[in-house]
Amino acid sequence: MAHLVQYIYIVSAALFILSLKWMNSPASSRRGVFAGSLGMLLAVAGTLIGFPGSNGAGIGNVHNWEWIATAMVIGTVIGVPIAYIMPMTAVPQRTALSHACGALAAALVGTAEFYQLQPQADTELRGFVMVALAVETLLGFLTFTGSLMAMGKLQEVLPQRPITYKNQNAVNFTLFAIAVALAVRLVLVPTDTLLFPIFIGLSLLFGVLLIIPIGGADMPTVIAILNSYAGLAACAMGFALNNNLLIVAGALDGSSGLILSIIMCKAMNRSFTNVLFGAFGQIQESHAQAQQRPYRSASAEEAASILEAASSVIIAPGYGLAVAQAQHKVRDLYDNLMRRGIDVKFAIHPVAGRMPGHMNVLLAEADIPYDRLWGMEDINGEFPQCDVALVIGANDVTNPAARADKSSPIYGMPILDVDRARTVMVIKRSMRPGFAGIDNDLYYLGKTLMLFGDAKAFVTEILKELPAPAAVAK
Ligand code: NAP
Repeated sequence: MAHLVQYIYIVSAALFILSLKWMNSPASSRRGVFAGSLGMLLAVAGTLIGFPGSNGAGIGNVHNWEWIATAMVIGTVIGVPIAYIMPMTAVPQRTALSHACGALAAALVGTAEFYQLQPQADTELRGFVMVALAVETLLGFLTFTGSLMAMGKLQEVLPQRPITYKNQNAVNFTLFAIAVALAVRLVLVPTDTLLFPIFIGLSLLFGVLLIIPIGGADMPTVIAILNSYAGLAACAMGFALNNNLLIVAGALDGSSGLILSIIMCKAMNRSFTNVLFGAFGQIQESHAQAQQRPYRSASAEEAASILEAASSVIIAPGYGLAVAQAQHKVRDLYDNLMRRGIDVKFAIHPVAGRMPGHMNVLLAEADIPYDRLWGMEDINGEFPQCDVALVIGANDVTNPAARADKSSPIYGMPILDVDRARTVMVIKRSMRPGFAGIDNDLYYLGKTLMLFGDAKAFVTEILKELPAPAAVAK
């Protein structure tokens, strides 16, 4: 039986790795989600089968089944509605909430282990096990409060602006140093139980203080970092409980979160150190300003005739498309133009929307063929030959200031070169700025036409002006 459990763990670990690999592409992502879920089911089943009895010898000897079953039912009753109720645009908040729960679970298991092993503290809690427990509880508790703060900021329950005060970094470092010093003391003298609640309190407080100086605008990146912390907490838990699968799963979670945050930082031209120490977020607010410059706007009728006359169109989707839930109407527009023999492609910026992959998921939902979705690096060379760049609810990721204006907070961020197309049309509701809170130079170019309105409503209006053509797919 013990061998069976190890085999189950190996299959689970393989499924987790395949899951990450398959989730890399929209075409295989559903398979990836299924593989990950199956891996987790096997992991839970294997752990329950292999649980040693109270005498340490038995297999399949889990006590308190009713507690485990109750916890699973409660988790399902809370988790399933959350998945359905929360809209796609709130995915970052939902992710933050799941990290908070996962991290709290790891921290509570660490706390329970600490007190449970107290009677044999001198032998069982010495050295490596206590180090693992300290890492697990520190990261678990700070990720718990940090993720709740991140969720509060994104949901606008808490102020989005960075909350700063004098010597903030010094205070944070001191607090962290005290927590680490307590952890070292607990490793050396694990029977010093009075220190443990103080250690927990400091970890919880550090989680809050770490996040408050960071502006709401950078919360998605912070969430990816917290994801990595939650994974590391789970990995440490694996060492403390001597569970190989937890070590593997935690390490995969920790490293994938880290890689994701690095990708996001690169795509926004942010420094990783800056994210960790919460120094940014303030710049963006100070740059929020409205500029009074002339721009041109057009009606749906005019937009339709420009599209009709084009032979190539590149659609650049952004957060506004997700808010308006315009993906199905955009699919209708794509079908309509393709049937007219017009070449239509989609330009996907790595941080368009609010989470990496946001646009891919949205467009996949509307069954837009994957081979029509082009990544930024591949599509940018195509804009100069393109007749119309149609920007739908995207803003920052198309702002040419990122290339030219050294004073811009987004200077250096790679963008979609929509301004190099022959004509640019932008669907959005107003001249208001996007996520970064800055004006977009694109809107004032002579070749740009602003199409004011809700993305779904405006695309519907354009479609009314473009009667369904006979099928002449290119
Ligand atoms: P954006 O800069 O936030 O702009 C979205 C635009 O959509 C807004 O200017 C808004 O203008 C418009 N909009 C909102 N609702 C709309 C509706 N119903 N119909 C039509 N338009 C609507 O979005 P983005 O260009 O996708 O850029 C993403 C931003 O998020 C970047 O700054 C990026 O750095 C940041 N970010 C992304 C990630 C990620 O992983 N994706 C992570 C961290 C940060 P109106 O109000 O005028 O309509």
